[in-house]
Amino acid sequence: MSKRRPLILISNDDGIDAPGIHALAAALVQLGDVHVVAPLQEQSAVGHAITMREPVRAHPWPFRGPHGKIDAHAVTGTPADCVKLAIDKLLPRKPDLVVSGINQGPNAAVNVIYSGTVSAATEAAILGIDAIAVSYCRWVGGDFGPSGVIAQRVAEMTLERGLPPGILLNVNVPDLPLHEMKSIKVTRQAKSRWEEAYSERMDPFQRPYYWMAGTFVNLDEGGNTDLDALDAGHVSVTPVHHDLTAYEWLNELRTWDLAPETTES
Ligand code: MN
Repeated sequence: MSKRRPLILISNDDGIDAPGIHALAAALVQLGDVHVVAPLQEQSAVGHAITMREPVRAHPWPFRGPHGKIDAHAVTGTPADCVKLAIDKLLPRKPDLVVSGINQGPNAAVNVIYSGTVSAATEAAILGIDAIAVSYCRWVGGDFGPSGVIAQRVAEMTLERGLPPGILLNVNVPDLPLHEMKSIKVTRQAKSRWEEAYSERMDPFQRPYYWMAGTFVNLDEGGNTDLDALDAGHVSVTPVHHDLTAYEWLNELRTWDLAPETTES
């Protein structure tokens, strides 16, 4: 029995004209039929925001792959909007895989929750579709080629093996040529936070305004974290869940007397 070519939806948060999404599309056309549905404008760090109070529009977009035109739409919304709209309206059928990226800059540790790149993949996971987020650990420019090679292999494996429901793969690729990269490490998210140091400035009317200027702090003792793997030159692959329940603390919370006195138990 011949298997039909997989349908792969590609999105990102850097916008449809970003170099990373072109590198990703070029890498994945070899695995299946690729459709690109990505934000018209950059949506980095919008997290899982969706657009509800205004319409979203999807503009057919000229998007060239290595072998010619790729079906593409630019959407006036967020990464999560793109995946929702693509699956409900724009794609010919439910995709076999959603891949988001390749993001310009890492999405490791706590940054996973701010990331629009990861949120596109999360939306797919919520909708019951296997999903991968890919980020290139360099903030400006560079060569997305090696990240494309990694993305292709992880996508190929995912199509072959499948992911459990609700789990996506968060892939971070170090800024190294392929032959200098160490192995692929399966990791956990490092504990970290941003220590805020908002820069306060004055507008022309002498009203203060604030510009985020935080410092990233790794709070983890180490041991198999995404940050450690990347620092050592490995590719980091973290399985990620969107179920945020703290299961380990459910029973402790049940010992609290949370009912106001007027409430019957
Ligand atoms: Mn981004």
